[in-house]
Amino acid sequence: MDLVIARPEGLYCPPGDFYIDPWRAVERSVITHGHGDHARTGNSHYLAAEPGAGILRARLGQDINLQTLAYGETLKHQGVTLSFHPAGHVLGSAQVRLEYEGEVWVASGDYKVEPDGTCAPFEPVRCHTFITESTFGLPIYRWQPQAEIFAEINHWWRANQQQGKASVLFCYAFGKAQRILHGIDSTLGPIVAHGSVEPLNRVYRDAGIFIPPTLYAGDIKKNDPLLRQALILAPPSAGGSTWMRRFGDYSDAFASGWMRLRGPRRRRGVDRGFVLSDHADWPGLLWAIEQTGAERVMVTHGSVATLVRYLSDKGLNAQGFNTEYGDDEEAMPEPEPAP
Ligand SMILES: [Zn+2]
Ligand SMILES: [Zn+2]
Repeated sequence: MDLVIARPEGLYCPPGDFYIDPWRAVERSVITHGHGDHARTGNSHYLAAEPGAGILRARLGQDINLQTLAYGETLKHQGVTLSFHPAGHVLGSAQVRLEYEGEVWVASGDYKVEPDGTCAPFEPVRCHTFITESTFGLPIYRWQPQAEIFAEINHWWRANQQQGKASVLFCYAFGKAQRILHGIDSTLGPIVAHGSVEPLNRVYRDAGIFIPPTLYAGDIKKNDPLLRQALILAPPSAGGSTWMRRFGDYSDAFASGWMRLRGPRRRRGVDRGFVLSDHADWPGLLWAIEQTGAERVMVTHGSVATLVRYLSDKGLNAQGFNTEYGDDEEAMPEPEPAP
């Protein structure tokens, strides 16, 4: 029996009668993490890993009906034993392990295999069937160690300071921004956060994650001299908006796994691209899949066809799973321009 099937509302567990990261409102939802394409409003009941509770409440509302489990803690529901295991993607992100009549399935949600200090590191979980994402599921995606990327960001920031320019770094407000704050050299100068970033910084600090002090952009006057020394973190949507006018002369950059591609980098029109992703790269996906020992792999959002073909060639029972994930945060690539 399949422990997870695709339904119009989302990924559904028939024996347990609940959904994992449903995209339509349902009675019982199990949530892998707080990104907008995985955690949506309107469900009657939410179950998630405990470290993600603050994020879910900050994003979906303080009054959601939320039940949490520590990583590794089990809950039995209609014969299905459910537990959460770290996915290493963002604070509170979890893989969902389901066991029913000796059959074990794991739904990964989004995951990253390089530990980054802002969330519990990815832990492979043995299973018969593994549901994997494939956001960066092409062989061209191979990440440099994050320490090298942070060194590049520090270097860019310092060079801008020497020229008296503000450093505006675009990144997604939840996860990526906090990972950058955690990883960069915060002694270089003041750090300013956009209004969509700052509330999430607070949740991370409350969870005991080191996030250096940040100034709220709204509190700083236009052309304040400190901006010429500052690193400013803002979501991509702030680019080109009137919000940017306060920074005077600036250099801008974008931090994303998509910066690996030349097309999107050019079209964003930013000065620099830093290849920093919160998703597994191609070797990371293959390593994680192998570690599960699964003989059957279901592939969701990303490069589904490529990964399915690769795994099938290796003798695994692989198939694509249609989902509505990937229309938010980092998961959506921009189309390459026609040559
Ligand atoms: Zn995500
Ligand atoms: Zn996703």
